[in-house]
Amino acid sequence: MQLTIRDLCKTYPNGVRALKHVDLTISTGMFGLLGPNGAGKSTLMRTIATLQDPDSGAVEFGALDVLAHKDRLREVLGYLPQEFGLYPNLSAETILDHFAVLKGVTDRRERAAQVHALLDQTNLLAARKQAVGGFSGGMKQRLGIAIALLGRPRLVIVDEPTAGLDPTERHRFLDLLGEIGQDIVVILSTHIVEDVYELCSKFAIISHGEVLYSGSPAAAVAAL
Ligand code: ADP
Ligand code: ADP
Repeated sequence: MQLTIRDLCKTYPNGVRALKHVDLTISTGMFGLLGPNGAGKSTLMRTIATLQDPDSGAVEFGALDVLAHKDRLREVLGYLPQEFGLYPNLSAETILDHFAVLKGVTDRRERAAQVHALLDQTNLLAARKQAVGGFSGGMKQRLGIAIALLGRPRLVIVDEPTAGLDPTERHRFLDLLGEIGQDIVVILSTHIVEDVYELCSKFAIISHGEVLYSGSPAAAVAAL
């Protein structure tokens, strides 16, 4: 599967040019989007996730014209935004079950199976009955990725997921992403260079809305 981004431009009403003719081709596996705060990463992520329209340009996922068929993209998308709220009094299991319904997993047995498998995969099985208000930052992010994986998405977007995690939780989270990125397209937005070098086979550097580099980490080092 391949995600193709063609000539995306976005200028906010305040005049900030967040995306300037962005072109990217992203294949199955872990793709890193590296850039400092304000580079345009979230704008690009939200555009791919069909939460925000660009001024011009195109996004294709396989043969799907994403901007023309937002509902169909959302059926195959898992999105972990930079900030997300969770009802603190609900358990991880209950929250996952609710999101599974929203994702259209209506069969109760299928839903229970997916929820259990994702709790297991994200190492939250033992904590599944606990109220998430008591979760650590790392546990919340792992629950976030479990939510994003409901409905078996083929494109997963995670926006700055490691910001604020301690080193142990950060590695646990990156390992988890690496497992997911075996056979679907995963885009990891980050301002942490190590996230990209430890995990991603391909990455792009974005700054002031422009793609400065796109390729493999090894090729980037060789070019220095
Ligand atoms: P990043 O995710 O890399 O931090 P963003 O996409 O959030 O970058 O932001 C890119 C630029 O666009 C920044 O200068 C930011 O302040 C600006 N920006 C983002 N969202 C808006 C908005 N809704 N209105 C105006 N400016 C915005
Ligand atoms: P991110 O880096 O993920 O965009 P921010 O904290 O910069 O996170 O932005 C949070 C929200 O505020 C986003 O919805 C973004 O679109 C909006 N935003 C960011 N910068 C600006 C800005 N300069 N003017 C108006 N809204 C903005």
